[in-house]
Amino acid sequence: MIQRLLGKCDLTTGTIDGSPVSRRRLSEMQDAFGDARACAAILRGDDPVLYTVSTFDVYEGPGHLRCGLGVLFPGRVGEEYFLTRGHLHERREAAEIYVGLRGMGLMLMQREDGTGSTTAELTRDSFVYVPGYTAHRTVNVGDEPLIYLGIYPADAGHDYEPIRAGNFSSVVVCRDGRPAVLPRSEFLHQLQSLRQP
Ligand code: MN
Repeated sequence: MIQRLLGKCDLTTGTIDGSPVSRRRLSEMQDAFGDARACAAILRGDDPVLYTVSTFDVYEGPGHLRCGLGVLFPGRVGEEYFLTRGHLHERREAAEIYVGLRGMGLMLMQREDGTGSTTAELTRDSFVYVPGYTAHRTVNVGDEPLIYLGIYPADAGHDYEPIRAGNFSSVVVCRDGRPAVLPRSEFLHQLQSLRQP
């Protein structure tokens, strides 16, 4: 049965019409950021929504596709730009295409087996192909909402645990007003050195 073949993305509300929206707040994402002190300072005043995802999941089963409209708001925790939690697919071989619709972003990608990591620009005139077996996270390095459509196999599933446990090996930080990608270990070491008594 044909249920629904047309989706409308509203780039001002960040929703696909008629589709549910989920929200992630900073309080749910504290472990994703390196600078715990900066995170706590923000949370003393507010608990900002970092991103929303509106999911078109009408179709189920092998061969079908799903998509999610992601809106990642601009901002930083210390030097680190706002980011999504990041995940692998439960079906590890499942790939995904992210189509940039608005804003300036980076996609962090990291092979689960540790054989490589990379970043790609996600902008309104680009798309990023995320291969299977690759953890992926978006980062908003601009000053307006980053909006994109992620399209993936309907049976891909989401697995957040490996990233929750180990995080990404790279961070994206603001240095001299521009995004810089650093090894997480180097960033954490710099934070520690700065805060030696
Ligand atoms: Mn995905």
